[in-house]
Amino acid sequence: MAVGDSADLVVVGGGTIGGWAATFAAEAGLRRVVVLERGLVGGGASSRAAGIVRAQGGTPATVALGRWTIDFYRGQQARYGTDSGFRELGYLILAVTARDERAGRARVEMQRQAGLDVSWLSAAEACAVNPSLAAAGHRGGSYATTDGAIDPPRNVLAYSLAMQRRGVDLRERTAFEGLRLEHGRLVGVDTARGPIATERVLLTGGPTLRGVGKLAGLRISAGGARHQIAVTEPHPAFEVERQPMVFDLGRGLYWRLEEGGLLFGMSNPVERPGIAREIDWPYLRRMQRRLERLVPAVRGLGLRKAWCATIDFTPDHQPILGPGITPAGDRLEGVTVASPGGHGMMWGPAVARVGADLAVHGRTDLLDVAELGLDRFDAEGRSRLAADPIALPFPLSADDD
Ligand SMILES: Cc1cc2nc3c(=O)[nH]c(=O)nc-3n(C[C@H](O)[C@H](O)[C@H](O)COP(=O)(O)OP(=O)(O)OC[C@H]3O[C@@H](n4cnc5c(N)ncnc54)[C@H](O)[C@@H]3O)c2cc1C
Repeated sequence: MAVGDSADLVVVGGGTIGGWAATFAAEAGLRRVVVLERGLVGGGASSRAAGIVRAQGGTPATVALGRWTIDFYRGQQARYGTDSGFRELGYLILAVTARDERAGRARVEMQRQAGLDVSWLSAAEACAVNPSLAAAGHRGGSYATTDGAIDPPRNVLAYSLAMQRRGVDLRERTAFEGLRLEHGRLVGVDTARGPIATERVLLTGGPTLRGVGKLAGLRISAGGARHQIAVTEPHPAFEVERQPMVFDLGRGLYWRLEEGGLLFGMSNPVERPGIAREIDWPYLRRMQRRLERLVPAVRGLGLRKAWCATIDFTPDHQPILGPGITPAGDRLEGVTVASPGGHGMMWGPAVARVGADLAVHGRTDLLDVAELGLDRFDAEGRSRLAADPIALPFPLSADDD
């Protein structure tokens, strides 16, 4: 191919997955790592998230991704001289029904076997660790003191600086347009600013990964859905250094401290997937009322800010990590796909590290990824894996985006 531009690896997407993966690939020894970002770095889901980080996953694999990620955030200052603002707050995942409690207790067993320090708290014990939680309306929950939150815009800054420090070539306002194949072998990519010769491509894209996949001739079962966040005005109950975050798992409503108030977030599970365009105020008010029942101190508080954005999801809420596979079932050598399935703050750096490992070495020692590739989805996009039970109640199909 007659092109002057070349790379050892082209990463599509300048979100937290692409940014950290490019950094890790450069650290693994690749000299010319190019990141293609059609807009500005972090302009997708990564700058708009709530920043919740937990190792309390619903499967051993997602526990491992969360644990690795928390260790990474803790070590950032020493490694890069900057950080993503990780704060250890603790996380309480509430049970409301007897069934929730049975499932929650079984989950704690699994998580403990996966090496996580997590325990079950009764309702009274939960209120003791989080004094703003109502005494009634729940049965306690699982609790890990080591979970916490990052500051998503600061994370964008952190990976931007890390990329720069490791010599990654970030190209903003440069869209990926497709793969160049010769006799079925990857030889380059097309971009809005001309072709780049390469034998390795890592495809990311968050809520738009499905579209990135289409450009590459792949069918990627991933979608985007509206997700809403609001932050209350300050209140003395929240003007504290530390208070555990809480997840009302059944309703998909979570909250945490933010600037003296509470940040809370949720998606509407019965809404059709698609790009978020405006705030659904009636739904947000409903969630606010639910929050008031579980956290009486928020009653009557005004909102300081609210936003909606498009969150990525996969039908089984698990990450996608593996080679590019065409709809005909052919493996595209040199092409790797990485999606955090809507959990890019809590699993992002680990997903990025696995993506970089697969792109650079064709294997990873961080996680067994045999089950996490594109080949787990059938032609209708259904996964053969059970859904991760600790997830927002997203739509189960990715077909409607
Ligand atoms: C409101 C909200 C709250 C959230 N809260 C949390 C949370 O608390 N905890 C958590 O773990 N996760 C949370 N998430 C999810 C998390 O933000 C995402 O999983 C994560 O940011 C995805 O990272 P990414 O790099 O895959 O995608 P993105 O950050 O979306 O980056 C993908 C990039 O690809 C670019 N791109 C697309 N097409 C092309 C192309 N053709 N060429 C070049 N570039 C292209 C896009 O412009 C974009 O910048 C939240 C998300 C939202 C929206």
